[in-house]
Amino acid sequence: MSSLPNLTSNYAEVFPELVKAATTASSPEPKLIVLNHQLARELGLDPQWLATDEGIDFLLGHQLPDSTTAVAQAYAGHQFGGYAPLLGDGRAILTGELTVDDQLIDIHIKGSGPTPFSRPGSDGYAALGPMLREYLVSEAVHAQGIPTSRALAVITTGRRILRETEQPAAVLIRTGPSHIRVGTFQYVRAQNDLELLQRLTNYSLQRHYPDATDSLNPALALLEQVVDRQASLLADWMHAGIIHGVMNTDNMTIAGHSIDFGPVAFLDAFDPNAVFSSIDFAGRYAYGNQPVIAEWNLARFAEALLPAIMQPGNEQVMSQDEAVRQATEAVVAFRHGYSASWATTFNRRLGIPQAATAEIGTELLEQLRATNADFTAFFANLADVARSESIPEDIAPELATWYEQWLQLQPNADQVAEHNPVYVPRNHLVEEALTAAVSEHDFSVFHALLAAVTDPYERKDASAHLEQPASMAYSLNYQTFCGT
Ligand code: AMP
Ligand code: MG
Repeated sequence: MSSLPNLTSNYAEVFPELVKAATTASSPEPKLIVLNHQLARELGLDPQWLATDEGIDFLLGHQLPDSTTAVAQAYAGHQFGGYAPLLGDGRAILTGELTVDDQLIDIHIKGSGPTPFSRPGSDGYAALGPMLREYLVSEAVHAQGIPTSRALAVITTGRRILRETEQPAAVLIRTGPSHIRVGTFQYVRAQNDLELLQRLTNYSLQRHYPDATDSLNPALALLEQVVDRQASLLADWMHAGIIHGVMNTDNMTIAGHSIDFGPVAFLDAFDPNAVFSSIDFAGRYAYGNQPVIAEWNLARFAEALLPAIMQPGNEQVMSQDEAVRQATEAVVAFRHGYSASWATTFNRRLGIPQAATAEIGTELLEQLRATNADFTAFFANLADVARSESIPEDIAPELATWYEQWLQLQPNADQVAEHNPVYVPRNHLVEEALTAAVSEHDFSVFHALLAAVTDPYERKDASAHLEQPASMAYSLNYQTFCGT
C-alpha cells in the first residue's frame, strides 16, 4: 500500500463541541510488539504494510491523511457512583474512522500522551503490561463471540514512564463501532443544550441502530436499543466469568460492546462476591453485582436522555411525568432482557431441553458456589462427561448428584463443547505472560496464551498447562490494577 488508508473524521466533524484536537506524543524508538493480522485484513488494511516504518507511523497517529483530525473525546461519568462532570480521553485519541461494510469503525490509540483532558498529575501514557493485558483480554472476549473493542496492535514507544517502578511505555491501537458512552450523553445533558442532545441521539441511532431510526421518539428508541444490547452483553460477561472491574458510566458504550479492560479479571472459583480490582474496596463491581450496576448505569443514561424524550424534535411533547414513566419502563426491561439472554445461553452451555434448564441450572450454581469449583474448568469438562457418561471420580459428592441428574437429561455433548471455552485468560497466566514480556523481553509466553484464548473451544495437547486453575490461595490474594 503506497498511500495512507482512507480515514474519515466523521464524529469530529459532526460534533466539534464534543472533541478537542489532540496528537500522539513523539515516539523516540517505536517497536511493533504485536500486530493482529487477521483483524487488519478484516479492516481492509495490509498487515505487511502496517509492519513497515510508514505503517507504524500510521498506527501511532504520526502519519494521517491530510483530511483527518485526530481528537480526544469529551465525556462525563459516574465513577464508583460519584459524578465527575468532565473526564474525557486523558490518555487516548481517536485518530479517525475506517469504513468497513458501510459501517464506521473507530481507530483509537490508548496511551498516546497528554491531551486537553488529561487528569491533573497524570501523564497520558500507558505501560506495556496493561496494554498487553487489554490486547489479550479483548481478543479472548471476541473469540467467545462477545461484542468488544478489538486490539489491532501494541507498539512500545521507547519512552520510559514512572508507575510504581519505571516501565516501558506502549500504545494499544484498538478498534470499535464507536466510543460514544453513557458518559458522553451525561456530558451533553449537563450542557443544557437540547439541540445537541437530540443530534447525538439521532447520530447514535443512525450509526448503531439504523433499524430504529424511524421512531417518533428517537431518544426513547435509543434507550430501548441500548438497554437490550447491554442486557445481552452482561449475560455474556456473566457466562464467560468476566469481572470488568470498572463499570463506570464512562466505560459503558452506546453500541453495546465491551471497552476499557483495565483491572479486568476472570473468575477462578465461582463466587458472586469475587472482586479483584485493588480500588474496588466496597465490591461495587463484584462479579455478581454487574447486572445490577449495568441497570443503574442505564438509569443514568435515561436521566441524561430525558429532555430529548420529552421533546423529540417534532411536534410531539411529553410531560415530564410521562417521560419518566416511559423511561423507567425502558430501563426496567433490562432485567427481563438479561434473564432471557442469560437463560438462552445457559441452555446452550448445558445442552439440555430448555424446560429443564432453570431448575437444574440454579441447583448447579448453588453447588458450584458451595464446593468452590473452578468455573471455567467445570464447564469445559462437561462435554467429556456427556460423551463418556461417566462422572469424574475426584468430584465433590454434591456435584456428583448434580451430574447424575444432568446426564439423565441426555445432554448434547457437541453442543456443550461448542459453548464452553477451555482456555480463558486466567489471571495467573496473564501475569506470567506479562512478566515474561516486560521483565525478560520474552514474548513467547504471551503469544502461546494469546493463541489458546483466541481459539478457546478445542483442546490442544500443547496447551494442556493453560487449562489448570491457579491455587485457591493465589486466587484469594490476587489483585488487579487500573494500569493508569
Ligand atoms: P479509565 O479508568 O481508563 O476508564 O479512565 C478514567 C479517566 O481517567 C479517563 O478520563 C482517562 O482518560 C483518565 N486517565 C486514566 N489514566 C490516565 C493517564 N495515565 N493520564 C491521563 N489521564 C488518565
Ligand atoms: Mg475509560
